[in-house]
Amino acid sequence: MSNLVLDLVLSYRILAEHGVVDAYGHVSARSPQNPNRYLLSRALAPELVTEDDIMEFDLDSEPVDRQGRGIYLERFIHGEIYKLRPDVQAIVHNHSPSVIPFGVTTVPLKPLFNTGAFVGLGIPTFEIRDFQPSGDIIVKTHHLGNSLATVLGNKPAALMRGHGSVVVGDSVAAAVIRSIYLELSAKLQMQAMTIAGPGGKIVYLDAAEVAETTARQDSARTWERTWDLWRTKAFNQLQLEKKLRAG
Ligand SMILES: [Zn+2]
Repeated sequence: MSNLVLDLVLSYRILAEHGVVDAYGHVSARSPQNPNRYLLSRALAPELVTEDDIMEFDLDSEPVDRQGRGIYLERFIHGEIYKLRPDVQAIVHNHSPSVIPFGVTTVPLKPLFNTGAFVGLGIPTFEIRDFQPSGDIIVKTHHLGNSLATVLGNKPAALMRGHGSVVVGDSVAAAVIRSIYLELSAKLQMQAMTIAGPGGKIVYLDAAEVAETTARQDSARTWERTWDLWRTKAFNQLQLEKKLRAG
C-alpha cells in the first residue's frame, strides 16, 4: 500500500476531526505514477474511508476500474481542476460551516493570522448561476467543474456560493491544512467583526506580511509538525478501528 493512499485515507479522517467535512466532502490526490489520473474514495462518508475504498479516475473523472462501486456526483471538481492546474497535487471539496457565510455575502475573507495568511493570496467566489440556469447547485458536469476551475484560476481556494468551497495544494498535506485553516480563518474573522462592531477597525495582515508568511510556510518545514501531529492521531485511530473490527 503506497504512502499516498494511506495519507489520503487519513486526510478524510483529519478533515472530519476538524469539522471541515461531515457525511459529505471529499479529498483527492493526483497520481504520482500518471499525472493524468487522480485518486479519490468511492462515495462514502469521510470517516468510514479505508484503503480499499480509494479508486483511480482519469481527468474526465471516469473511474479506471469501477467494480460496481458508487462514485461521488461532484468528482468533476477534481478532474477539471487537475486539467487546468498542473501545479495542483491535491484537492479538498467541503462544506465547512464558517466559510459559507462569506460565499453568500459581499464581505470578503481577509488574512487575519499566521497560519491563515494564504487567504491573502485571494479567494474568489464561484457563482453557479453565472454558468447555468438557476437550479441544482451541485457541480455534477464537466462544464460546471471547468467553470469552477476557471474561477479558481491560480488561487489556493474558491468559495462556492450557497454550498461550500474547494481548496487546492501542491501536496495532500497542504490542501488538508489549508482547508482546516480556511475554516478557522472564517470563524476568527466573524469573531473579530462581531467584537469590532459595524465600521469598527480590524487590522488584517498586509500584502508584505502575506507575501513573507506564505513564502516561509511554503519553503520551510512549517507544516511538517502540523501534519505529523494530525496524521499520527488519525493513523492511531485507524489502527484501533481495524483491531476492533478484526475482534
Ligand atoms: Zn458539495
